[in-house]
Amino acid sequence: VSIENLYEQLTTALQANADLGAALRLLQWDQETYMPPGVAAGRARHIGALAATLHERRTTAGFLDLIDELWSQRNGLAPWQLVDVRETKWRTDRQRALDTALVRERSVLHAEARAVWVGARAGDDFAALAPYLERIVETERRVAACIDTDRDAYEVLLEGYEPGMTVARLDSCFAELRAGLQPLVEALDESASAGAPTALEGSFPLDQQRTFNQRVLERIGFDFKRGRLDVAAHPFSMSIGGDVRLTTRYDPGDLRYSLYSTIHEGGHGLYEQGLDATAWGLPRGEPCSLGVHESQSRFWENNVARSAGFWQHFLPAAKESFPSLDSASLGDVLHSVNKAKPSLIRTESDEIRYNLHILLRYELERALIEGTLLARDLPAAWREGMSSFLGVVPQSDRDGVLQDVHWASGAIGYFPTYTLGNIYAAELASAAEQSVGPLHDLLARGEFHVLLDWLRRKIHRRGQTLRAHELITEAIGREPTPASLLKHLDETLRLLQAS
Ligand code: ZN
Repeated sequence: VSIENLYEQLTTALQANADLGAALRLLQWDQETYMPPGVAAGRARHIGALAATLHERRTTAGFLDLIDELWSQRNGLAPWQLVDVRETKWRTDRQRALDTALVRERSVLHAEARAVWVGARAGDDFAALAPYLERIVETERRVAACIDTDRDAYEVLLEGYEPGMTVARLDSCFAELRAGLQPLVEALDESASAGAPTALEGSFPLDQQRTFNQRVLERIGFDFKRGRLDVAAHPFSMSIGGDVRLTTRYDPGDLRYSLYSTIHEGGHGLYEQGLDATAWGLPRGEPCSLGVHESQSRFWENNVARSAGFWQHFLPAAKESFPSLDSASLGDVLHSVNKAKPSLIRTESDEIRYNLHILLRYELERALIEGTLLARDLPAAWREGMSSFLGVVPQSDRDGVLQDVHWASGAIGYFPTYTLGNIYAAELASAAEQSVGPLHDLLARGEFHVLLDWLRRKIHRRGQTLRAHELITEAIGREPTPASLLKHLDETLRLLQAS
């Protein structure tokens, strides 16, 4: 059998799996949006059946042999074929390192813990969750050891979300970020703005909000012929093979919530819509990593949509839609969308403090995996950490260690991808500016397509051709550091101090 023929077999298998995966996601999207409440059990069964079929197809002996054969003959592959084989082999090796019993035990544990977390959070009862977290930590250590006994267990887990990232790189990058954030947060505290309502708080009818969101998404380049915007309790986006479903949630008293969650999810959606459709189902046509995915949402949400240029362009349209903005100046709106106040809750944090919430979680989850922190001691470690990172201490575990579902759903090593996303987004914004000219003027003129084209070329079309760190390095012409993010946040601080 020729190597061309083997590669052909691989693409056929991967694309069939991708088709099944798309069907599975459509069921999940419907479950989160329009599914009537009485059919949950049936839907769980349909989803389970498809997921099991997919898992089986990915682990059959024939498929595993095919990948090994291609890998052994990789010298005969073209560079673009090698990308597909390399990434498929990498993912498959991680999967097959775990025996079926461990895979089953792990998914049952995660499902149970997730359900317990819902009750524990509602009842502020960390003790109920603690034994599950202990088992999750222990199971994740075993998973890491199965995949690679010789490497740092946390790094092996981290790589499941951010392939190629190392703990050493994160440590030095996060230390630089923390040192740079400290003075910004201190300056923020001194200039703490009062709780008076700002321009985008007031009365904003939902129909007009929906129309305005749609208009903003269209202007930044989201293709509604290949996507939708709907409502969900917890906004998310989901790609069903180039058909991108975005969701948001509305607050009639605050324009910011829905608008910024829409733009955030829209950024994820632009990435998915910009992937190479001719490589459907293949690593070349798939998103690079969670960190890169988050960089695309943060780029549009923070670097574009919280800027003066963006609002210079959209304020007239916003005033047409919302009479309550009649007397709002550009400065009022900028102040409103950048307003900073300390929060105990990560998802409600302002942009300047946000990454400190992540750095704390990174420190704690590494200690959990290393065994220097026990799950049962998390609440105390959390309060101590919040005090040292952010200067605030939660009165309850509900507003503390129980606020995020990640650990309870088994995701250890996931949190750093949020901050990597912010770092990459700022680096991309500053590199784009050097390449296409001042962003402020471009945005004020509404020329969003220039930015989108740049991202398409540098990031979207590249799929998994390179690992995240190398992809960003190539896009910006040097290794990424937190410097651009710190500069961006410093500008945000000065904007707040001026208004
Ligand atoms: Zn996101």
